[in-house]
Amino acid sequence: MEGRINMSYIVAIDGPAGSGKGTITKLVAKDLGLVSIDTGMLYRCHALAVLKNNIDVSDEEKVEEILEKIDINLKNKNNRQSVFLNGEDVTDQIRTPEVTGIVSKTSSIFGVREKITRLERKIGYEWLKEGKNIIMEGRDITTVVFPEAKVKIYLDATPIERAKRRCRQNKRNGINQSFEEVLQSIMERDKNDMNKKVGALKKAPDAIYVDSSKSSVNKIKHKIIKIIKQKTKENRNEHYKKNIKSNS
Ligand code: C5P
Repeated sequence: MEGRINMSYIVAIDGPAGSGKGTITKLVAKDLGLVSIDTGMLYRCHALAVLKNNIDVSDEEKVEEILEKIDINLKNKNNRQSVFLNGEDVTDQIRTPEVTGIVSKTSSIFGVREKITRLERKIGYEWLKEGKNIIMEGRDITTVVFPEAKVKIYLDATPIERAKRRCRQNKRNGINQSFEEVLQSIMERDKNDMNKKVGALKKAPDAIYVDSSKSSVNKIKHKIIKIIKQKTKENRNEHYKKNIKSNS
């Protein structure tokens, strides 16, 4: 198993809401044949369960406890990821402003992060064991979930640019929210995400910083593909050098 994992690789991408992680991750995955994993969907699914069960968000014990009683599952089909809550496909339900409004709070609870981190690692290793390469995006993938990832990227953009993108996405999804509301929600989420006691959003020292504010999606996609190719080549070379050394 270990040898297989060494040959397969993980690309970890972190960044704030609206930085383009989701879009870029899917496009890169398609071009390079990687399995893409959007970890925000797991935290959103848990937040949805909190809402569905009428749990008071400030009751941390209950917010954490619900994770013991529900089943969260991700499925990947034709490069499209769906999330299931107790067997029900909730891929659309997790995008409502109600879920977005509480997910930063529910995901800052230590026990929640511990359990979802475990789930993320399980999902990642299952794909690696199958010999697949994966690209996982979130807030703490490079720092907590897969600090051993071969390629680490921090994707960023200015809050205004991110709010513009989120507004366009909301419009496509039939969600009606003013630009000011979206900007406010993004800034609040940034603050919460960056100040979490565990799993805070921050750039890992060895992550490559990519600013997507002024570049097209296509340009960023190519930039990231170039980084992945370069890094995996370096890693392969290192791997071969080590093998030659240990065989001589
Ligand atoms: O990426 P997305 O905006 O869908 O994530 C929703 C929320 O889930 C984030 O604002 C963040 O609070 C939380 N999250 C997290 N760690 C991750 C992914 C998401 O805390 N790895």
